[in-house]
Amino acid sequence: MKVGQHILVVEDEPKIRDGLRDFLEFQGFSVICAEDGLAAERLVAERRFDLILLDLMLPKISGEQLCLKWRQQGLRLPILMLTAKGQENEKIAGLDLGADDYITKPFSLEELLARIRAVLRRTDPTCSVGQAFAFGPFTVDMERLVIRHNGNETVVTRRQAQILHLFAANPDLVVTRQQLYENIWKESLEGIETRTIDMHIMRLRDLLKQAGSDNELIQTVRGEGYQYKCKS
Ligand code: CA
Repeated sequence: MKVGQHILVVEDEPKIRDGLRDFLEFQGFSVICAEDGLAAERLVAERRFDLILLDLMLPKISGEQLCLKWRQQGLRLPILMLTAKGQENEKIAGLDLGADDYITKPFSLEELLARIRAVLRRTDPTCSVGQAFAFGPFTVDMERLVIRHNGNETVVTRRQAQILHLFAANPDLVVTRQQLYENIWKESLEGIETRTIDMHIMRLRDLLKQAGSDNELIQTVRGEGYQYKCKS
């Protein structure tokens, strides 16, 4: 981890906000806090950050609205969403809106740190894979984070593109959840909710369908993992 990476913490709960600031500063990050959506928006327009920790439930502008707005404006920096327990729908919505990952409250600071490091590693430009590759009928552009099909472009998150890349590199082979964790999350299975990976795949399938795929390109192999059927 590079020392002094800049994190914006957007959280309206003073206790959580202060706790996050203290912890992250102790870990060597430079931390700026915003207590509502408007303040966050202003800060992002003015300063450069390496990552945003974004609470979902915020006064003035919600975390979802902010995330969507930033992504529509072309903001590429990683966003890690903070969600309350049981907000499964919000989590999926968060990934939909372009968040890179989410973490459920209450979370341990160790888990948070692991997620932050994983997201920062993934978005490190020096770690990027090849610029464009084929996936079924699509062309996946790793640089611009879009998938193309019949002249249409669909925006994907960096992680979605990385998942597609992993499948594309292993056509017709079973990719286990363990392999996905290790390659995409760069973490062991421990500390990650087991449903996380399935939710990501589910969302990715929906996205491919919306982007124009008639076939299920990523198939479930019961008890094993997932398989990319490039000629299905
Ligand atoms: Ca809140």
